[in-house]
Order: sequence, then C-alpha cells, then structure tokens
Amino acid sequence: MSCALCSAEGATRFFAVTGGPEEAGVQICATCQTQIEGSLEPDHWRCLASSMWSQEPAVQVLAKRTLERLADLDWARDLADQLWLDDETRAWADNQVLGSGHVDSNGAPLSAGDNVVLIKDLPVKGAGFTAKRGTAVRGISLVQDNPEHIEGRVEGQRIVILTKFVKKK
Ligand SMILES: [Zn+2]
Repeated sequence: MSCALCSAEGATRFFAVTGGPEEAGVQICATCQTQIEGSLEPDHWRCLASSMWSQEPAVQVLAKRTLERLADLDWARDLADQLWLDDETRAWADNQVLGSGHVDSNGAPLSAGDNVVLIKDLPVKGAGFTAKRGTAVRGISLVQDNPEHIEGRVEGQRIVILTKFVKKK
C-alpha cells in the first residue's frame, strides 16, 4: 500500500483521525505518523499539495490539520486556503484544533488528567451519597462523544459529572 499523505510505497499503519465519525482514519507511513505525533519537518509536507485533493474526508481533515500546524510558512498557508472542505468535513477538522470540546464552568478547556473542583453539591444517582461542593476530583477522564460529561473518582466511586458543575484547578 502507499501512504495516503506522502504516497511512499511500503508498509502503512492505520492512523485514527479523531473528532469525526467513529473509527475514521487513514493508512499512512511511519515517517508521516512520527511527524504528526511529534514535530513536523516542513519540507516533507509539501506532499500535501497533491494528497489534500483526496476524495477521502479523513485524508482531507488530516491534511488540513497538518497544514494549520505549518501556518507560519507561506506555502502551507496558501495550500490551507486552497483546500476547500464541505461544512461537515470542516467541522470535523476544526473539532480537533479546538480540542475535544470539554470546557469547565468558566469555559476553560478540560483535558484528560486534569484536576477539578465541584462548584455545587451533586447527588450521585444510584450511589446514595452527595458529592459536596468543593470536592477535588483528580485525574478526570473525558467522555469521548459527550463534551458535557467527564468522569472522575469521588469517595472511591467512579462517577460521571457534568462539566458545567466543575472548575479546573
Ligand atoms: Zn507518508
């Protein structure tokens, strides 16, 4: 197979393109994957000038996100401007740039592993206790497909908490 981004022939691996349809992804080579997960070597990404015209939305999204990371370079900015995405694909591309969409009661972005404090007493359904206002919840996780929900441990129980009732520490 050849890499969906740089067309290198050889082994490819599945790379998940998050923020869109479940299990969406592309087959890319080790070089592309290493750079996307680490730092980009700009010249390698001139390959996007052709691959961004793929009919595959997942490829378009990954191309767009990668070009945006290189937006300090004229050629990359030009390509990003030329890359037209339909509304749905654009929303998908933006979804990642803005994070998972989880924000606390003040609108601060939340990430997995953050520590938060409850800003309200919360009765925990089914557990028979109330999580008190001011309780610290350490190392939260984000509920993937619901930006209003996070998970964390309170009194030894793993519970789902609404993001609007927490404040990032
Ligand atoms: Zn590649």
